[in-house]
Amino acid sequence: MDFDVLIIGGGAAGLSCALVIGSGLDKAFAKNRKAGIILHQRSSHLQSALLNNVFGITPGTKGMDVLKAGADQLTELYPKMQQITKEKVKEVAEINGGFRVVTNKNEYTAEKVVIAVGYTSPFRISGLEEYLIPHQKAKLSKDRVQLKNQDHLVKPGLYVAGTLAGWRSQYAIASGSGAAVATDILTDWNDGEHTKVHDKLA
Ligand SMILES: Cc1cc2nc3c(=O)[nH]c(=O)nc-3n(C[C@H](O)[C@H](O)[C@H](O)COP(=O)(O)OP(=O)(O)OC[C@H]3O[C@@H](n4cnc5c(N)ncnc54)[C@H](O)[C@@H]3O)c2cc1C
Repeated sequence: MDFDVLIIGGGAAGLSCALVIGSGLDKAFAKNRKAGIILHQRSSHLQSALLNNVFGITPGTKGMDVLKAGADQLTELYPKMQQITKEKVKEVAEINGGFRVVTNKNEYTAEKVVIAVGYTSPFRISGLEEYLIPHQKAKLSKDRVQLKNQDHLVKPGLYVAGTLAGWRSQYAIASGSGAAVATDILTDWNDGEHTKVHDKLA
């Protein structure tokens, strides 16, 4: 497999997931694990957002600036998290022991995949149709979608995060969802023993 985990989508949920997994890659239980993110950001809802009501973010911050800062933070702090840019995912197919992710330019294999591409309809990634349902926490008239899941797990090895997991569209909720999936994956790598990554003041 090219990756132990491949995150699809570089918005609030995808980037949060990548930062938390990235912060765990130096742990003993993650030794030799390969992680990556398909960091497509053009259609993130954050591109047009103005953030006034998010804890920890200076009121008046533009969503597009948060997207850029998040990608830079990932590059600087967690370079082991491979960033794949300028590619859009077209298909996710189940293969023996994992998934094949097909983009407009390449193909990758991964044992685990996190889908964090937002809740916009029509949903354009083929191979996931059987999990697609109308969004349970958005106005019907908006025609949003989600993937059926239980606590972010669609099926073994396949996770969904952010608005596509069925959460309401708020930045903090989407970020928290991505971070939650990251800790589930780190815990799995840690043989099921619960784990998280905390940095402390010296
Ligand atoms: C105008 C506006 C204002 C908002 N204001 C606020 C606010 O004030 N406060 C607040 O809390 N929230 C606000 N939000 C909501 C917030 O932006 C969303 O809740 C949040 O961005 C959802 O995160 P997400 O990761 O689920 O989706 P997104 O952030 O939309 O990320 C999805 C990512 O997937 C990528 N992607 C899509 N398709 C593919 C594909 N096929 N292959 C690869 N990548 C793909 C996209 O480019 C994008 O980067 C606002 C949203 C909008 C639209």
